[in-house]
Amino acid sequence: MTDTLRVADHDVFLVVDVQNDFCPGGNLAVPRGHEVVPLINMLAGKFAHVVLTQDWHPHGHLSFASSHSGKKEFQAIEANYGTQILWPDHCVQGTDGAAFRTDLEIPHAQLVLRKGYHREIDSYSAFYENDRKTATGLAGYLRERGFARIFVAGLAFDFCVRYSCEDARRQGFDVVVIEDACRSIDVDRSATATRDQFRSLGIPCALAEHITRVK
Ligand SMILES: [Zn+2]
Repeated sequence: MTDTLRVADHDVFLVVDVQNDFCPGGNLAVPRGHEVVPLINMLAGKFAHVVLTQDWHPHGHLSFASSHSGKKEFQAIEANYGTQILWPDHCVQGTDGAAFRTDLEIPHAQLVLRKGYHREIDSYSAFYENDRKTATGLAGYLRERGFARIFVAGLAFDFCVRYSCEDARRQGFDVVVIEDACRSIDVDRSATATRDQFRSLGIPCALAEHITRVK
């Protein structure tokens, strides 16, 4: 755990996939996913710059188990870009499940970045689709805006938060994960694997109470 971190003007808060389908009652509910919302609202108030990501799939998306006959949810398949876990249908474009939680209150968010809109490829990361090559454009946006450090929170810790943090680091940004403002799906110990991966990459995990605003 890190000591107090002061938010500066070159910092940006990346809020990952706080959508109805990832919260209890949704199609791909992250256990206790809704609990991050008040914490993320509070954190967002400490940042001048906030970016929201939104998982945004077409019907029949490759990541849906329903798109593969004989396959079950949470089974893995080999896609042409590598292993892909199959999920329940979720965050279908324009549906209520794909909408942000109505209790997410970040009116000053400057960008909503949608991802996962190509039918044949999933996108956990906010930076690259799951082939790790197709860019979403977020790195260019952040660089052009002059941001150097990215604080990350949201859903789910062990998938979209994890891959976003790894790619942010790969792109040369400083990264801080606000771990208590995340929740995990935890497929095959993926939450533990994520913590191990952050440790090995030197990505710090902070708590929301350690983040303070520079007046
Ligand atoms: Zn998805």
